[in-house]
Amino acid sequence: QSEKASGSYAFYDVEMNRLIAGRLYLESGIRRALQNDEFFLLYQPKVDIHSGAVIGAEALIRWAHPKDGIISPIEFIGVAEETNLILQIDAWVLDAACAQAKRWQDEGVLAFPIAVNVSAKEFTSSLPERIEHALRKHQISPAWLELEITESMLMQNADGVVRIMNEITAQGVKLALDDFGTGFSSLSYLKKFPIDTLKIDRSFIQGIPDDVDDCAIASAIISMAKQMKHRVIAEGVENREQFSFLQKMGCDEIQGYLFSRPLDVDAFAQLIAKKLSL
Ligand code: C2E
Ligand code: CA
Ligand code: CA
Ligand code: CA
Repeated sequence: QSEKASGSYAFYDVEMNRLIAGRLYLESGIRRALQNDEFFLLYQPKVDIHSGAVIGAEALIRWAHPKDGIISPIEFIGVAEETNLILQIDAWVLDAACAQAKRWQDEGVLAFPIAVNVSAKEFTSSLPERIEHALRKHQISPAWLELEITESMLMQNADGVVRIMNEITAQGVKLALDDFGTGFSSLSYLKKFPIDTLKIDRSFIQGIPDDVDDCAIASAIISMAKQMKHRVIAEGVENREQFSFLQKMGCDEIQGYLFSRPLDVDAFAQLIAKKLSL
């Protein structure tokens, strides 16, 4: 018994050390990445489910690590949030996305907004001002920017959040509620938030059409969104069965590998230039 226990403690120590070392490695790596400009954005098209036209794009961050290759946000956003480095990362993302929107506007590539993910930490009373600054700096219209905010962050300080959201929408920037259905927020909050779009989380799209629960949840979100006069988009759409189901249910937009993976700037511009058909 005691031998087994000490054995598992030793294992625990090794694991802990490995985790802590990994965290520190990531944290110092992120600091260096911010300095050396190692982050870049990919853009995934959002598509009108009826016409197949590209009507939006989501900016998704990647890290070109000098030793470890391309790192996904899943690997570093957590540590970035714990260490508040997310504030610098998201500031970089906002600036980079606005700069790209300006370039695409000037080149005639873009006639729709770029959506940027906003972490809960970033959602403070200074956010409207930071947005205003980015729009002015890059001389783009607020109509070219959209913010995706996750449902779970709304729970933290609902009244404060509503005030900030109202300021942002008053500026003309659109808001989407991301990962909808995963945050367990009370549905009654929903009517307080000045949201344009509900984004159904990929976890509910995955099981369509075989999983009856996923089908029920996706349909319910779509019909609720319609009745509340919100637009509704499904993320993570990978196959035609999901696409047809969502179309039948009246979903407005889709995003996912069925249509396109997240693309680099050149590939995205090429995709827009092609005549699209679903
Ligand atoms: P998210 O906001 O829910 O973004 C959707 C994720 O699903 C992206 O992963 C996207 O590449 C992936 N995806 C899109 N279509 C499909 C599909 O058909 N199938 C599957 N299996 N996956 C699909 P990604 O780019 O790895 O980003 C992961 C998460 O990291 C994002 O989830 C978002 O929460 C966060 N993130 C990404 N970029 C940023 C950023 O600039 N700032 C912040 N704060 N968070 C970000
Ligand atoms: Ca998102
Ligand atoms: Ca999601
Ligand atoms: Ca998300």
